[in-house]
Amino acid sequence: MAQKKVVVIATGGTIASRHVSDDGSSIADMSGEALLETLHGRPNGVEVIVDQFCNVGSYTLELPTIFDLAKRIESYVGRDDIDGVVVTHGTDTLEETAFLADLVVDTRKPMVFTGAQRSADIPDTDGPRNLADAIRLAASERAVGLGAIIVFEQDFHAARDVTKTHASRVDTFASGEHGKLGEVDEGDVIVFRAPTLRKTYRPQKLETRVDLIKLAVGVDDKFVRFSAQSGAKAIVLECFGRGNATLPVAKAVADIVAAGTPVIVTSRCTQGRVKPVYGNGGGADLMHAGAIFAGDLTGPKARILACVLLGAGLAAADMAAEFRVLAGDA
Ligand code: ASP
Repeated sequence: MAQKKVVVIATGGTIASRHVSDDGSSIADMSGEALLETLHGRPNGVEVIVDQFCNVGSYTLELPTIFDLAKRIESYVGRDDIDGVVVTHGTDTLEETAFLADLVVDTRKPMVFTGAQRSADIPDTDGPRNLADAIRLAASERAVGLGAIIVFEQDFHAARDVTKTHASRVDTFASGEHGKLGEVDEGDVIVFRAPTLRKTYRPQKLETRVDLIKLAVGVDDKFVRFSAQSGAKAIVLECFGRGNATLPVAKAVADIVAAGTPVIVTSRCTQGRVKPVYGNGGGADLMHAGAIFAGDLTGPKARILACVLLGAGLAAADMAAEFRVLAGDA
């Protein structure tokens, strides 16, 4: 079997963090090369090269940076000598970076994201085994055509569906009712299903002025109107249940959409799709107001999609059609 070649793009996160700061806090300070040294053995038949993109906690990343990261991935997967890419990344925003790569990198080669929940200087850190599994996946023919995936605790997930579910435990990534795509079982890659709700876009940049606002019982329209007045190019709402809002928020949505700013409806629920079922400030009112319904995309994922679509120059009406594609409604 021909030798495979995989690039590990290191960005920091807990996988690269140790308790080295003066106050004892954990910060990203290990290089990608040093992470490779922590592997008990390099996967056989795989040449690994390292690219140190940055070394930060993912909670500090900004949209232009993760867009640059997606472009860096694209530059590698476009090379004939590279079979796949691994990105080591903090877990806090991992699902957003992975979904962005899924949306903007046009490739069938594996793009495998991973990280850790336990810092690198904790004796039972989960980083080395996640990294080893990620390298195996990136080199595997079986991961071809799956888009961007996150591997963690042996399971791998589609970027569109996966979310961080636990703040501290190692088995944190899950895809809710959609389930995982597959697993890495002692080096063997098993694929149970392939994602279908995928599409590639070619924005020159991301629109960064997209706000995400979560509703809570009894909220007024203050934040939603402020968002529009302060220059948001789109507003993503994490609404109640099936996609419902309070009456003041629904009225604000009507005004904001009429003034030309797209409003996108998602749910606070971790599973299930938004639908215009209820009146009196519910989803039916938001639909009549012209809001875009995002299916079961989470708020953070819907925001990334809006940043991509606006960055690609789409008008609000065209955005709605693309949301239908990614929501499975088209
Ligand atoms: N807790 C995070 C991690 O797992 C910190 C970060 O996102 O960088 O890496």
